Amino acid sequence: MRYVIIGNCIAAAGAVEGIRSYDQKGEITIIDGERRGCYSRPLISYLLAGSKGAAGLHYRSEAFFARNQARVIPARAVRIDPPAGQVELDDGMMIDYDRLLLATGASPLIPELPGIEHPRVKTLYTWKDAEEIAALVETGATAVILGSGLIGLKAAEALHQRGMKVVIVEKQEQILPRLLSPWSATIALRHLQEQGIQVLTGHQAVSISESGEVELDHGAKIPAQLVIVAVGNRPNQSLAREAGLKTGKGIIVNQYLQTSDPDIWAAGDVIETHNILSGAAEVMALLPLAHLEGYLAGCNMAGQAVRYPGAIFLNAVHFMGMHIIAAGEPNRSGTVLQWQQGSSSLEMTIDGDYLLRYIAINLPGITGPLTAIVEQQIRIELKEWQEFIREPSMASLPAAYWAEMRRWEEHGGLRCG
Ligand SMILES: Cc1cc2nc3c(=O)[nH]c(=O)nc-3n(C[C@H](O)[C@H](O)[C@H](O)COP(=O)(O)OP(=O)(O)OC[C@H]3O[C@@H](n4cnc5c(N)ncnc54)[C@H](O)[C@@H]3O)c2cc1C
Repeated sequence: MRYVIIGNCIAAAGAVEGIRSYDQKGEITIIDGERRGCYSRPLISYLLAGSKGAAGLHYRSEAFFARNQARVIPARAVRIDPPAGQVELDDGMMIDYDRLLLATGASPLIPELPGIEHPRVKTLYTWKDAEEIAALVETGATAVILGSGLIGLKAAEALHQRGMKVVIVEKQEQILPRLLSPWSATIALRHLQEQGIQVLTGHQAVSISESGEVELDHGAKIPAQLVIVAVGNRPNQSLAREAGLKTGKGIIVNQYLQTSDPDIWAAGDVIETHNILSGAAEVMALLPLAHLEGYLAGCNMAGQAVRYPGAIFLNAVHFMGMHIIAAGEPNRSGTVLQWQQGSSSLEMTIDGDYLLRYIAINLPGITGPLTAIVEQQIRIELKEWQEFIREPSMASLPAAYWAEMRRWEEHGGLRCG
């Protein structure tokens, strides 16, 4: 069996592990478009900050690929020919496959702004990006970050640590708009401001001048040494689309992570994942999911029939000493319970007897159980949550949670589909 994987990040690593769990002999070929090996994207902001060296960046070493007899080709795939079972590389080489995995991830969205091509306007998405930004860092000069999502905040943290003045410009009225509620965003915003980061919400850049000055929609102009664009990402699905595979917001896969072509699977940031709470197919660009999906796709490519039930939105962010964990449905309304003490807070949205979403700031101890309650949709009455929120802790978790835990143990562990 000839397995080919396009992309060489965490979904690809998971796929190698999945394939080798069931097939020790098949040939595995990985097409590594970045030519950097299998490295951790979340660690590039630490590389930029100078707190991590290049040596600690790889998820999987060359020895991992050698041990698993996986050949890594440093090249980009430019075309898939499904009827011929071939992938064409940018040097013209053709690679034959029996089973193909698309693990091509995502790329940053670049807004159409006058001046966006300026050489000091960068994204922070790849190892190369981090190196290019590092070469432009100037202590005491201003860096403007467009967007206050996870990547924007990680860029802000890194550049702040490198001694730059950081200004974040966010189009929405709050920071981390996809992760936080307005209430919890206010707590996170205060923390950022206390660390010396300037944040302008409700505004967007309209142009970048030749001297690097960023003009905002209300006319303000910010002279900047560096501009980081962090306004969102888009799945890299052009190869799939051109090969005639079904695509939507991401590549469409079935519960076995198989695309509309039975010989081609897809995993990671490039796919639409089934949201088990809303029932909708959504792009969930999260590292643990990319690894799991890659692993399950690999198992299925090797002849298994392992179902992927889907996932919930679960995001953990750590920046400037603040830990945020949020899980569940951001778009459904319900009864909102809030608790705050110093720099710690918890917000829960409850609909009937179900916890739809929680956002915990600096409260890591209880997030495991809360995530299980959201994910498994354990029934807990509102009055029990009202009691819990007075003093949230492991000890005050509702009795129904512990009863469900005992039930799982009796039935041999967690339900997973
Ligand atoms: C700065 C930063 C911080 C992050 N922090 C977190 C975090 O805290 N928590 C979290 O859950 N997630 C985080 N993420 C997201 C996380 O990194 C992704 O979910 C994860 O990397 C997805 O893995 P993947 O293997 O699907 O795709 P990717 O990591 O995007 O890798 C896909 C690879 O495929 C390559 N490729 C694409 N097209 C081709 C082609 N035609 N030929 C060959 N190769 C190709 C790409 O160049 C890329 O190297 C962060 C991302 C960034 C950028």
